[in-house]
Amino acid sequence: MFDKILIANRGEIACRVIRTARKLGIRTVAVYSDADANALHVTMADEAVHIGAAPSKESYLLSDRVLEAAKKTGAQAVHPGYGFLSENAAFSAACKANNIVFIGPPVGAIEAMGSKSAAKTIMEKAGVPLVPGYHGDDQSPAILKQHADAMGYPVLLKATAGGGGKGMRQVWSNEEFDEALEAAKRESLSSFGDDRMLVEKYLTQPRHVEIQVFCDQAGNGVYLFERDCSVQRRHQKVIEEAPAPGVNDTVRSAMGDAALLAASAINYEGAGTVEFLLDKDDTFYFMEMNTRLQVEHPVTEMITGQDLVEWQLRVAAGQNLPLRQDELKINGHAFEARIYAEDPDNDFLPVTGTLSYLQAPEENTHVRVDTGVLQGDEVSIYYDPMIAKLIVWDENRDRALARLAQALSEYRISGMTTNVEFLYNLATTEPFRKADLDTGFIDKHKELIFHKNEAEIERYLPLAALYLILKRKQDSLALASRSTDPYSPWHNNNGWRSCGANIHDFPLLINGHEITAFVEEGTANRLTLTSSGTDTQRSIQLSGTLDGNDLHADVDGHRVHASVVAHDGIYSLFTQDAALQFSLIEPDYGDLDDGGAAGFTAPMTGTIVALPVEAGSPVKKDQAIVIMEAMKMEHTIRAPADGTVVEFYFQPGDLVDGGAELVNFEAADSE
Ligand code: ADP
Repeated sequence: MFDKILIANRGEIACRVIRTARKLGIRTVAVYSDADANALHVTMADEAVHIGAAPSKESYLLSDRVLEAAKKTGAQAVHPGYGFLSENAAFSAACKANNIVFIGPPVGAIEAMGSKSAAKTIMEKAGVPLVPGYHGDDQSPAILKQHADAMGYPVLLKATAGGGGKGMRQVWSNEEFDEALEAAKRESLSSFGDDRMLVEKYLTQPRHVEIQVFCDQAGNGVYLFERDCSVQRRHQKVIEEAPAPGVNDTVRSAMGDAALLAASAINYEGAGTVEFLLDKDDTFYFMEMNTRLQVEHPVTEMITGQDLVEWQLRVAAGQNLPLRQDELKINGHAFEARIYAEDPDNDFLPVTGTLSYLQAPEENTHVRVDTGVLQGDEVSIYYDPMIAKLIVWDENRDRALARLAQALSEYRISGMTTNVEFLYNLATTEPFRKADLDTGFIDKHKELIFHKNEAEIERYLPLAALYLILKRKQDSLALASRSTDPYSPWHNNNGWRSCGANIHDFPLLINGHEITAFVEEGTANRLTLTSSGTDTQRSIQLSGTLDGNDLHADVDGHRVHASVVAHDGIYSLFTQDAALQFSLIEPDYGDLDDGGAAGFTAPMTGTIVALPVEAGSPVKKDQAIVIMEAMKMEHTIRAPADGTVVEFYFQPGDLVDGGAELVNFEAADSE
């Protein structure tokens, strides 16, 4: 076994690899960019080497720097994690040339699976079932279209060099084909520097089921069962589980055998994943093979009781696989939810910011949290915005699902928008409980999932109002105690008025809804709350205490506990089953194009792709006014109201910083 390894990655996966290395008594070397100087993976490792600037192209993707760091520190092997250099055949070859073990498959296997179309040719020869389609070399648009016409619509165009759901387009009819092809090629070229396409029959309700395989250098191979990764947004996984619900032993072993066939066709070694689409009638088709550890490997670890990173290290060190196929068993059920800094209400747009408050659920035999960040850390534009992976296990799916919901409700993050509430809402829908899964799940059940409705806001409004009242009292008491005249009537907030009732009004923005809460102070610390902006006007009796972040409330006799965290004028309120954000609306509505109008600023650093309207022309609410590309994805910025684009501050091709003002916009009704 190795004495020392270098981990050519960052974030949660670097931390996860370090944990196993430490367990095995292996010393670890981290690498880091400028942005990660104080990152968790750096502090966890025994040594760390700075390899460059924040953008991954100038650090984590520089194979020479990584190799240099390995040589300098005497690391015998490099674990590439996932992403970055993990599927880079040239890097793997360079490791070999320098007598450093690449903890992954041989160069030939990475190369073989590097192109989706070449992989398909190999699999076809090996007798592995493929999604019907065209994966030939002739790339002329006419030929591609001819194949699409012949197989019948809908079809899916896919970048052969693709990954992460990029460079993909569904085409529903012959008329749409040309435009979709152009768009897919453009995206593929900008993401992968290659615009070759393959055409596949688009299956309308498949499940994404993948098999974890493992092979050693002696030619032994096993599969560690399957994972269902059907719940996706933008063709990217959100919640994964193992085993796949409803997959019987016959289908399981047929898929397992096909996966091993795929692995042996390319003389595989180490951890790999063979991805299949599983159709309603249990037919399955090879999609691609990922020649690395997957993000979602923990669910397999939970149901098999194995440590896959330990397996990787053993295999790379030349040891045989620890177990035979007949020694592997499925035990219970596991889920993984990917916690992202992103805005589900805004088409899952990635967001950045500082994790001003971060409290993960407690880890135990049922709950595991794989993360690479701590409270106070930054989610920056440079890397994937995943904050953590929440993994849960229990004896069966129902119980594991209950664990998932519970753990999600305990996840507390503030400082940026996250998908935690979305995940909770998704995980608690009836169709998900019934495992009615396919890759269109989120779209199909969006009404159920995106149910931040008024009723819910009304439920939490009293807590928000009570918090603000109690906080205001606390603040003024604190102010009074610091003052030279603590008994001055100006510090008084007991509600004395020379005439009329004492009513506080709080114009609030709660989860995007504007609501005004009127709180009337009565006797014995009881408050009466009425609200406008919601469907119903109601009067609620409120009382409670605030102790630090802990709010103990009595709402019409119902005792509720919540915690509230304040950051930058935004309050995050967490209860047992939900989280919501609220802020006080400042009474300044004047200037539309200041920071308050988020639609006018670049959501993140990126490039202006197109300006679909002319400066000076009138636009309608929600009309696209700027298209930019950031994090390899197109983002459309829309007019927030009817109005006029007076001036664009940038032109197509310009690079803009996140937060930069993009346009001068005048709303039609702004006086
Ligand atoms: P990437 O490498 O970009 O992640 P994949 O080939 O793994 O691309 O596909 C990603 C997802 O796209 C799949 O999990 C599935 O949801 C969907 N998908 C891919 N191919 C098809 C197809 N032929 N029909 C329907 N959905 C598909």
